[in-house]
Amino acid sequence: TKESVKGFLRRNLFVLLTIAAVALGVILGFALRPHNLTLREIKYFAFPGELLMRMLQMLVLPLIVSSLVTGISSLDSKASGKMGMRAVVYYMVTTLIAVFIGIVIVIVIKPGKGHRDSPVASSGTIEPVQAADAFLDLIRNMFPPNLVEACFKQVREFTCQLIKQLFYNTLKMLTHQINWAVLLLQETVVETIPVSGSSNGVNALGLVVFSMCFGLVIGSMKQQGQALRDFFDCLNEAIMRLVAIIIWYAPVGILFLIAGKILEMKNLAEVGGQLGMYTVSVIVGLLIHGLFVLPLLYFLVTRKNPYTFIAGLLQALITALGTSSSSATLPITFRCLEENNRVDKRVTRFILPVGATINMDGTALYEAVAAIFIAQVNDMELNFGQILTISITATAASIGAAGIPQAGLVTMVIVLTSVGLPTEDITLIIAVDWFLDRLRTTTNVLGDSLGAGIVEHLSRQELQSQDVEVGNSVIEE
Ligand code: ASP
Repeated sequence: TKESVKGFLRRNLFVLLTIAAVALGVILGFALRPHNLTLREIKYFAFPGELLMRMLQMLVLPLIVSSLVTGISSLDSKASGKMGMRAVVYYMVTTLIAVFIGIVIVIVIKPGKGHRDSPVASSGTIEPVQAADAFLDLIRNMFPPNLVEACFKQVREFTCQLIKQLFYNTLKMLTHQINWAVLLLQETVVETIPVSGSSNGVNALGLVVFSMCFGLVIGSMKQQGQALRDFFDCLNEAIMRLVAIIIWYAPVGILFLIAGKILEMKNLAEVGGQLGMYTVSVIVGLLIHGLFVLPLLYFLVTRKNPYTFIAGLLQALITALGTSSSSATLPITFRCLEENNRVDKRVTRFILPVGATINMDGTALYEAVAAIFIAQVNDMELNFGQILTISITATAASIGAAGIPQAGLVTMVIVLTSVGLPTEDITLIIAVDWFLDRLRTTTNVLGDSLGAGIVEHLSRQELQSQDVEVGNSVIEE
C-alpha cells in the first residue's frame, strides 16, 4: 500500500504541475505581450514547447504500431471483431450527435447572418478541389504503397492545392480592403505553416490499417507467431516507459507552448462581429458535447461517474489543448487511461490508436458549424437535403482529418464542395482557427477516451472469458 500511496501522490503531482504550467503559461504570455516580441524571438522563447511536441510525435509511430499489433493479436478474432464493432458504432453515433449539435447551434445562433464583414475575391483561377478527390485521397491513404514512407509522409495531394488556393485568395483580397487583408495575411502566413507542415506527419490511417491486419494475422498464427507477439509487446512496454520519462518534461513544454501561442496571437479585439459569433457557436457546441452529451452517454452505459473518469484524463486533455494534435497527445492519453483510470490494456491498445486517427467529434462539429456559417455569410439558404449532405460530409471530413494541428481546416474542402460553397471562403475562418483547433482537439481526445471506457464496459464478458483461457497470465504485465 505504501507503493500505491506513492503512486497516487505522484499521479496527482503531475496533474497539479500540469495545471500550474497552464496558469503560468497564460500569465507569462500576457506579461510578455507588451514587449512586442518579433516572430523570431517568440520562436526562440517557445522552443521548449516545440521540443515537447517533437518528443511526443517521435513516439507516435512506434506506439501506434506496437499497441495495435499487440492489442489485436492478444485477442481472439471473435473478441476483437466484437470490440471493433462496438468501437465503430460508438464512433459513428457520437460523431453524428456532435454534427447534429453543431448544426442546431449554428442555425439557432446564425453567426453569419447580415452582410459579410469582409469582401472575398470571387473564385480563383486555380482549379477547385473536388469532394470526390478528397474521398479518394482518404481511401488511398488507407493503403500506403510504401510502409516506410508512410511513417514519414502524410500523402495528401489536395492539401498542397488548398494551401496554394488560400495564399492566392489572400493576396487577391489584399487589393480589396487593407485592414482585413493585413490581419488575414498575418494570420495566413503564421497559420498555414502548421498546415503545410502536416505533409511531414505520419500517415496514421495507413499505419492503423496495416497494423490491424498484421495483428490479426499474427493472432491467428498461434505458436508460430509467439516471437512476433513478444517483440511487439516488449516494444510497446518500452515505449510506454519512454512516455513515463517524457511526462516529467511535459509541464515545462506545455507552459512554453501556451505562453508562445499567447505571444503570437493577434489582437483578439479585432475578431468581432460575425467571426466572433462563429467562434462562440463552435465553443458552445463543443462544451455541450464534451461536458454533457459524452459524459451522459458514458453514465448510461457504465453507470459510473463520468466526471471521475474525466478527472483521470486531465493531463491528456491539457496536453491536447497545448499541442492541438490528438496524435501527439496519444502517448499521454494511453498513460492516463491505463494508469489513472485502470482501463484494460487490451482495450486501450486496440481502441486508442484507431480513435485518435478516425474518431474526431470536435472536428466533425466544427466542420458542420463552419460550413453552415459560410453558407449564411453567402446568403445561401440551405434545404434539408443540403444540411443532410453537410452532416455526412462533415463526418467524412472528420474521419479523413489527421490528428495534427489544423488538419480539420484542410478537410473542410470536402464539406464545402459537397454543397457548392466557395472553398476560398475558408480564409474567412482562418483567423480564429488556431484557437478553435485546440478546443476541438481536446474534445476529440475526450471522445476517444470515454469511448475506450465504454467499449471496455461492453466487452467485459469477452475480456473475462479470455482471462480464463490464458489463465490470467498476460493480463497483469
Ligand atoms: N487538430 C485536430 C486533432 O488533432 C484535428 C483538427 O484539425 O480538427 O485532433
